[in-house]
Amino acid sequence: MQKENLKYVSSGKAKDIYENSSGNLVFEFTDRVTAFDGKKKSEYDEKGEITCKIAEYWFKIMEENGIPTHYIECPTPTSMLVKRLDIVPVEVIWRNYVAGSLLRRYLAGDITLPQGVGTEEGSPIPGGMIEFTTKFEAVDRPVDTDEILSNGWLSEKEIEYITDLTKRINNIMSQELASSGIILADFKVEYGRTPDGEIILADEVGTPDGCRFWKGDDFEKGVITSLDKDVFRKSIGNLTVAYRELFSKLQRTNI
Ligand code: ADP
Ligand code: MG
Repeated sequence: MQKENLKYVSSGKAKDIYENSSGNLVFEFTDRVTAFDGKKKSEYDEKGEITCKIAEYWFKIMEENGIPTHYIECPTPTSMLVKRLDIVPVEVIWRNYVAGSLLRRYLAGDITLPQGVGTEEGSPIPGGMIEFTTKFEAVDRPVDTDEILSNGWLSEKEIEYITDLTKRINNIMSQELASSGIILADFKVEYGRTPDGEIILADEVGTPDGCRFWKGDDFEKGVITSLDKDVFRKSIGNLTVAYRELFSKLQRTNI
């Protein structure tokens, strides 16, 4: 990427962040991947480019569907220009199926699952469920709405608004993916505040770093085949190959 006129801001686990002369941010999607709160790390060729293109694909769909986002444009194949926001200090997770940390917390005896929901990876959660975790603590920790309210992180109205937006994002993605034969098991999103106080979708959306995607035909046969970061978490294949397969399936929908 052309780094002139860009001021380095910081590096996250997957992206490097710069500020341009207009005060907007430029995300450089790198090939870095981490899991388990940064304890497992690696790099995969092309990961940055594929992830950036998938995020771009979904941001455009979100905007078309009236979801307000920070997305401006992708100036290069691995970079994205976005509006700088004040990031809401909670991450928002939407779950359609039991997987990941939900299952881990259940098996550890820390939580119960919603009434009637099965206790295996892949059990459906009818109607879905929302969860919140901390964003700016060393380890992402689940938080309930009481803690969010008492810390002043969000108001009751804002929690309602974010819940509604997240539900809409789930519906948009789930529908779109269904036509590509992919199941959206769960996903994470972040929101931020504009200088006017409006809450809009931030960070990235619909990428295999932040979602669980399962192949629909295998799922019908009772097999979970992941096209997302679980390939890396569980060491069950090459991340680039899985991400590339996901992206090619998404593109086919548009033809
Ligand atoms: P992380 O290690 O936190 O996952 P990433 O590698 O994903 O970091 O880099 C993105 C960082 O930029 C995240 O900390 C995210 O909260 C932050 N961010 C995302 N969108 C915006 C925005 N519009 N304005 C300011 N910060 C943002
Ligand atoms: Mg991130």
